Amino acid sequence: TRYVYRFGGGVNDGGKGDKNLLGGKGANLDGMAAIGLPVPPGFTITTEMCTRYYEDGGQYPESLNGEVANGIAHIESVTGKKFGDAADPLLVSVRSGARISMPGMMDTVLNLGLNDETVLGLAAASGDERFAWDSYRRFIQMYSDVVLELDHGAFEEALEIAKEDNGYTLDTELTADDWKALVAEYKALVQKLWNKPFPQDVHDQLWGAINAVFGSWQADRAKVYRRLNSIPGDWGTAVNVQAMVFGNMGDTSATGVAFTRDPATGENVYYGEFLINAQGEDVVAGIRTPQYLTLAARERAGAKPLSMEEAMPETYAELARVFDILEKHYRDMQDIEFTVQQGKLWMLQTRSGKRTAKAALKIAVDMANEGLITQEEAVARVDPAALDQLLHPTLDPTAPRDVLTKGLPASPGAASGLIVFDADTAERRNELGDAVILVRVETSPEDIHGMHAAKGILTARGGMTSHAAVVARGMGRPCVSGAGSLSIDNANKILRIGNRELKEGDILTIDGATGEVMAGEVPTVQPELAGDFGVLMEWADKVRRLKVRANAETPQDCKVAREFGAEGVGLCRTEHMFFDAARITAVREMILADSEKGRRAALDKLLPEQRDDFAQIFMVMAGLPVTIRLLDPPLHEFLPHGEAEFEEVARGAGVSVDTLKRRAAELHEFNPMLGHRGCRLGVTYPEIYEMQARAIFEAALIVKARGGEAPIPEVMIPLVATRKELELMKAIVDKAAQEVFAEQGASVEYLVGTMIELPRAALKAGEIAEVGEFFSFGTNDLTQTTIGISRDDAGRFLTQYVDKGIFARDPFVSIDVEGVGELIQLAAERGRKTRPDIKLGICGEHGGDPASIAFCEATGLDYVSASPYRVPIARLAAAQAAL
Ligand code: PEP
Ligand code: MG
Repeated sequence: TRYVYRFGGGVNDGGKGDKNLLGGKGANLDGMAAIGLPVPPGFTITTEMCTRYYEDGGQYPESLNGEVANGIAHIESVTGKKFGDAADPLLVSVRSGARISMPGMMDTVLNLGLNDETVLGLAAASGDERFAWDSYRRFIQMYSDVVLELDHGAFEEALEIAKEDNGYTLDTELTADDWKALVAEYKALVQKLWNKPFPQDVHDQLWGAINAVFGSWQADRAKVYRRLNSIPGDWGTAVNVQAMVFGNMGDTSATGVAFTRDPATGENVYYGEFLINAQGEDVVAGIRTPQYLTLAARERAGAKPLSMEEAMPETYAELARVFDILEKHYRDMQDIEFTVQQGKLWMLQTRSGKRTAKAALKIAVDMANEGLITQEEAVARVDPAALDQLLHPTLDPTAPRDVLTKGLPASPGAASGLIVFDADTAERRNELGDAVILVRVETSPEDIHGMHAAKGILTARGGMTSHAAVVARGMGRPCVSGAGSLSIDNANKILRIGNRELKEGDILTIDGATGEVMAGEVPTVQPELAGDFGVLMEWADKVRRLKVRANAETPQDCKVAREFGAEGVGLCRTEHMFFDAARITAVREMILADSEKGRRAALDKLLPEQRDDFAQIFMVMAGLPVTIRLLDPPLHEFLPHGEAEFEEVARGAGVSVDTLKRRAAELHEFNPMLGHRGCRLGVTYPEIYEMQARAIFEAALIVKARGGEAPIPEVMIPLVATRKELELMKAIVDKAAQEVFAEQGASVEYLVGTMIELPRAALKAGEIAEVGEFFSFGTNDLTQTTIGISRDDAGRFLTQYVDKGIFARDPFVSIDVEGVGELIQLAAERGRKTRPDIKLGICGEHGGDPASIAFCEATGLDYVSASPYRVPIARLAAAQAAL
């Protein structure tokens, strides 16, 4: 097997550039070299090597040495420099590159190849002693951090002290001799912290860096990132070794990052930042505030420092030409890293750029309209989950705002929450159910779990392409970055802005679209669902086969669902209507009654309420199917809690508090999830289902009588395990229908079906389908009962199951296709055999999960049902699944 592929200088071993083999970065370096763009020469060690390295317990095959030596020889021959040459040394960068980019998650080493001798050669060859010693100290600092894993704080401290001693404030003020002195200190630090001298052999340096990149694949932060983004652990990373080019060789040199379109809004304008006389990490780390790329952007921001378009017009024009070539070649918005070395432009990276949901939509729709991609490709381009960002409220423009300061609008969306100052607290408070805003000087990859837990992120430093901005946009979290007037006192947990002081736990609102930071909570308004969103949804609807319904139980939810394009209600959980404060007492009377007579008395109070609920829902869902599930949960969920509640129920039912308490104790169950719930309630207390069925049909007739489009009720029986249960329950429903229809002299069409949420029901689907006219897969319970993991307790250990690769994803979020999925397939098959036109749907949480929707499409279900806000996500995912 070949493990090393060369690129640059007219060579591109990678051929078409296989991302799985070369990683995203390697494949695109190869691709850029292939179309003749200026790429510094280099080579890629494949992801297969990474996988093999781990399989073999951290060993490389014999052959790799020779292949790497060959790769170095390639770089040497293109650049005319020699690795380790004391006169004019070749320096290389070593970077990771997985199949899909994991920004900031893995390791990079720059300026590799410097040692006590070659630094002199670099000084002589470049004619710039200061540059050479600065590069050497950067190298030692990075290498010590990434490869030797020494405390990087110690190195930063040494630099700060050096600046203080000399009365400097900026790094740029240090002279060649200052850097030289710092290099000596750094080497002493390495000796002290590592007990060995800093490696001087350039080949040792190279292998150390290669090991570190492969090692970084299993670093904690990379694992967390993979879990959050569903990236399999066995993909591995590639290693890219490439000739260094320098953006820090004076004022004709620069480095920058750019997007071919605006990644926040999707506008078709070049967008980016650059720094004169700097190295790449200076831009990304947000240490110096970068300059704008284009004149228009600079003017819009009212910024002073010249844009690249003005400061380096010729190189800028060349860069713009490259942008256009890249966009046409890759047919997508590109995110680019470039360096200008003494006036010459070099491309260091290109990849499909991360973007906000809004930008993703606009870019997809624009590109289809520009003829760059097809409408189907546009549909395929937008990540359904990212739509979430667009469907949520934004700040009410008319509400008063107590604006404290303004930072950069790094990631759109508005969020309010309690201020927290560190990622761990963010995670903890989020688990307690608090909305939090994570406030940091700047974020680093170690903060990723906190960023995920937060509703919004606010940083004092960093530009639009800083870590915080890139990661927040990718996650869909609102973010304001570079709010320079923030002063953060982490020790005392105080945030100062001007003369205002806020503490941890105070409420803050950020608007990631404007950059505004506000005290207190600001009210929000619903999003506008027209424009690009509407266009893309239309295109999606053209290609999808699966119908999309909503899980909804209030008229309000039904309205939202219809606006989002729901084609019916797939699950109306009637118990949610019972929790209403006005009727809970009657519900409790019903539960605690010890006779049918007592229950009926209470049910009589509930009937008109239920009828009214259903009538309202039927009005909103006119003409569409509405699946109403009869009572499902364990009864004890409705029991009174305190003394006052018992007294109230006792009064209503006309019995003593003691009697009620005795009855409540009788109802106690050890394992309520597997206890007296679902159709078992209908079996033991048929009058409950009788009342509910009556309410449904009376409501349907009310709506019909008003001249509205008649609803199509689908009455659903929960937690059925056997055909007999369904038979008994269907008889109750049919009888109620006949009675109501006879009383009113009118009728509506209806169906009676069942949920499939127990393994036995899936297995016996063939005979259950003799009775049931539809199946709806209740995958929440089906997952719980198939795997035997409690849906309410799984959170405590499931992340470990995912980390250890037992499940690729949380099976309560994304269907366990192999296990639970097999039961669904089997039930669908057996059900169809008995009743070829049986209607099949899914109403568990999985109905809104794109991967599970793809499974439903493959299984040939008729519809998926998801919570109202997930309906558009489901529509898009269903379209993608059909493509
Ligand atoms: C299910 O079990 O998947 C379901 C939809 O019902 P519930 O979540 O109400 O138990
Ligand atoms: Mg269920």
